[in-house]
Amino acid sequence: MMRCPPFRYLAPETAAEAARLVAAHGPGAALLAGGTDLLPRLKRGQAAPDLVVGLTRVAALRRARAGADGLELGAGVTLAATARHAALTPAHRALALAAGGAATPHVRNMGTLGGNLCADTRCGYYDQPRPWREAIGFCLKAPAGCAEPAAARAGEVAGTCWVAPGGRRCWAVASSDAAPALIALGAEVTVCSGEGSRRLAVAALHRDDGRAPLLLAPGEVLTTIHVPALGPAWRTTYWKLRRRGSFDFPVGAVALAVRLAASGEVLEARAALGGVASRPLVVETDALLGRRLDDEAVGAFAEAAVAPARPLDNTDYQPAWRRRALREAVAGALREVRGDPPEALGVLARAAARVLPRA
Ligand SMILES: Cc1cc2nc3c(=O)[nH]c(=O)nc-3n(C[C@H](O)[C@H](O)[C@H](O)COP(=O)(O)OP(=O)(O)OC[C@H]3O[C@@H](n4cnc5c(N)ncnc54)[C@H](O)[C@@H]3O)c2cc1C
Ligand code: SF4
Repeated sequence: MMRCPPFRYLAPETAAEAARLVAAHGPGAALLAGGTDLLPRLKRGQAAPDLVVGLTRVAALRRARAGADGLELGAGVTLAATARHAALTPAHRALALAAGGAATPHVRNMGTLGGNLCADTRCGYYDQPRPWREAIGFCLKAPAGCAEPAAARAGEVAGTCWVAPGGRRCWAVASSDAAPALIALGAEVTVCSGEGSRRLAVAALHRDDGRAPLLLAPGEVLTTIHVPALGPAWRTTYWKLRRRGSFDFPVGAVALAVRLAASGEVLEARAALGGVASRPLVVETDALLGRRLDDEAVGAFAEAAVAPARPLDNTDYQPAWRRRALREAVAGALREVRGDPPEALGVLARAAARVLPRA
């Protein structure tokens, strides 16, 4: 049995106090929400904080408030509660699909939306027990405070990336389901530190670095996810590729939001890809503006959307298949939002339909 290393546990009642505790302690401290991402990492020896600051007693993080300007979800709202929140409108379908299709029912009942946005990147050479990783000599990804030998710690000495040997960067994959969906919906987050709070777009929360994917300062706590109200002209969706529909992380995903004129022309569009880079990839959508979503526009957009994606050999399925399947998923998602019936959307749509949230 894999066990967590020993640590001191504190459970403050405000986010500001949690931020202060983590900042005062330094890199040996970690925040804990539902624990479904962090605790497996502790058991695998990928982190060994001597202080864990739990967020479960911060009542404000579990609140959700709906208003005319949209929905404010506390970072501690679970994925399950997010997926079935009564204030989500049909235009928020992308978020309901993403949160409702992450992981398993048990994990969705524990895992939080904030923890999902802050979850670590993944790699088949890294998400392994410590003896497995020791046998290959570890790799470049080993966050500060981790249990790995000092010689393998990131940045300290040369290590090997087994995915791209010879390179000096880590290509571990951003695997949050919620992040691309929230980016497509135009969501923002509030984060607080001991000194105050700031608000930023979800699209500005991550960087393309598998070792350090979060653009939060040490001790900053994500408190609120702001999901804007979207009128009925908005149509959104989320398609996720994975081997097992009931369980797996995305190996490619697309979140799409378009605002259509009555004539069918695209007035606004936002899209993001998940599972194909170390951060959610924001997709350039200008080519869609003013166009009807005919087959030519759909095909051209899907081709261009996946061009910057860099699926590598560090997760399930062959990279070439993932790129091809993701192109089909982007096209299918566009056909879904233009109103094609489900039976016309093909086999990938049936896989996507499996992630529909249950009441
Ligand atoms: C079997 C299994 C399958 C999974 N499948 C999926 C999947 O398909 N899709 C998917 O997206 N995820 C998946 N996950 C990952 C995980 O369950 C989710 O990402 C979950 O939402 C994480 O939330 P949490 O509250 O449990 O985070 P935690 O584990 O508590 O924290 C995750 C990270 O975020 C930080 N953190 C947490 N809350 C905050 C905050 N408020 N402010 C700042 N930092 C914070 C923590 O310090 C930690 O580094 C899976 C996990 C398991 C165990
Ligand atoms: S991408 Fe390379 S450095 Fe990053 S976790 Fe995988 S093997 Fe390690």
